[in-house]
Amino acid sequence: MRKDRRHQWVIGNWKMNGSLAVNAALFEALAAHRSSRGRVGVCVPTPYLTQGQRGLGASEIVLGAQDVSAHVDGAYTGQVCASMLREFGATLALVGHSERRQYNGETSIEVAAKARAALAGGVTPVICVGETLSDRETGAAEKTVAAQLAPCAELIRVTGVGLIFAYEPVWAIGTGKTASPQQAEAMHAFIRDEITRFSPDARDASILYGGSVKPGNARELFSQPNIDGGLIGGASLIASDFLAIVDAL
Ligand code: PEP
Repeated sequence: MRKDRRHQWVIGNWKMNGSLAVNAALFEALAAHRSSRGRVGVCVPTPYLTQGQRGLGASEIVLGAQDVSAHVDGAYTGQVCASMLREFGATLALVGHSERRQYNGETSIEVAAKARAALAGGVTPVICVGETLSDRETGAAEKTVAAQLAPCAELIRVTGVGLIFAYEPVWAIGTGKTASPQQAEAMHAFIRDEITRFSPDARDASILYGGSVKPGNARELFSQPNIDGGLIGGASLIASDFLAIVDAL
């Protein structure tokens, strides 16, 4: 297991939270932080990308968006394409977050198209997958995650290591319930096997865990052989918590 070959990441997902005043303090705290162990990103609501671009300045924090259009340009009211994100300094975009699958009806085929468009526009997609509680209770967790990954097969084959994945069990997001390090590790190992089937290079892609990660549980999760850091929701809104999680890498 060559964990040292893989980029370790902690990426914050602010979801639909923030204001100019609140963000200013958060960006300032993040920009001042130095992490020697891994990469750090923050995915902010689209209107705050300019503020993030300025606030993070020359810091080591990578700016990201929470979604991206599957299209390059044109008549897609309300959508934002990868080249626009790039103009505002964003080089990461979440795709297929479970809240978008749930509330916006995004399918895995659309998620794969968004990931493809992101990459084509110079933005690294963070492809989110994860099962529901009923999937887990009925023994269908791996089947669900495999089905979510399947439409990305061609993209993985072509891109290999240039993608980031996030395993986020839906039952652990914002609920305070965390997958045990053993449950998370087992699914990460499964995801790594799946993506490696599509492309041997993808074996070294980063796979992050997300779902109620906190300063108190981050270290044990991140120390698992197939877990390459975390995608952090609620705790990314509190600078001291987020930076403690970064330091757990
Ligand atoms: C998320 O929204 O990606 C997430 C993991 O949320 P939380 O950390 O709040 O569970």
